Amino acid sequence: MTTIQRVTVAGSGVLGSQIAYQAAYRHKDVTVYDISEAAIEQAQQRIESLRARYLHDLHIDDAAFDDGLTRIHYATNLGQAVAQADLVIEAITEKPAIKHTFYQELALVAPAQTIFASNSSTLVPSMFMADTGRPEKFLNLHFANQVWLNNTAEIMGSPQTAPAVFDEVVAFAGEIGMIPIPLKKEQPGYILNSLLIPFLNAGLALWTNGVAEPQVIDKTWMKATGAPMGPFAILDMIGMRTPYHIILTKATRENDAVMLAAADKLKAMMDAGKLGAESGEGFYTY
Ligand code: NAD
Repeated sequence: MTTIQRVTVAGSGVLGSQIAYQAAYRHKDVTVYDISEAAIEQAQQRIESLRARYLHDLHIDDAAFDDGLTRIHYATNLGQAVAQADLVIEAITEKPAIKHTFYQELALVAPAQTIFASNSSTLVPSMFMADTGRPEKFLNLHFANQVWLNNTAEIMGSPQTAPAVFDEVVAFAGEIGMIPIPLKKEQPGYILNSLLIPFLNAGLALWTNGVAEPQVIDKTWMKATGAPMGPFAILDMIGMRTPYHIILTKATRENDAVMLAAADKLKAMMDAGKLGAESGEGFYTY
């Protein structure tokens, strides 16, 4: 068994709430940290909404789900949230400036032995290791959406991550029911998003350029390859916010007119409350 028993999950959005519940379900003591009481209330609702999926997908009963809930605590004070933590998993908004500030604040209040792991989809640990004040105890631990089902955990260190810390986090991922996928070196997007993001962008470009509607693009991919979902159904599952930030950052940097227009289209959907599966409507209705 690893020494990682107490886990703080910072950021309780789509992924943070899933990671928190999965760790608690697999018997870790979990603290969920977010910036406001409103965000915490939303986190409690998000976690409760996982119940139906765990019951259906993992064939468990309400009592087993409730047992996981008993190991989750909530906090809006960072110092209190991490005071006992063996591991902090950061799952906050995919914006570098927000993450830089978060790690600088975290470094001031976390115990020296606490390991920090980022769930960032696209940002490598080298970017933030100086902020953490403990580059040897910092790495990325990247989950896939619907963690209880799509249970890969990609583990990616910076050149400064201590091998023992890396191995400990690989073992922790296994303990909470993930299939650990250790990467040999830093790669923006890991394995999964190195494949997935170009695929989603290709779908968005086809739509933005007026070649076909999302449902037709998805149908083509699914029928022709046997895949269960096309790019737009995957976007609905991910939720619009994270893809929007990723696309906007890259398209702005590269002055890519098509992808800037695609970001505008996603923004219009978000403004209309179409956030994907989590809000009941995105490219499809749920
Ligand atoms: P989200 O927008 O659903 O949630 C972000 C959460 O972070 C919100 O609850 C917000 O209140 C909170 N937050 C913002 N600033 C904070 C701060 N300073 N301190 C604490 N909490 C703060 O985003 P998400 O989709 O859950 O993505 C979160 C992270 O997980 C990103 O790095 C993303 O790349 C990564 N990720 C997302 C997915 C996905 O499918 N959505 C998959 C893998 C990894």
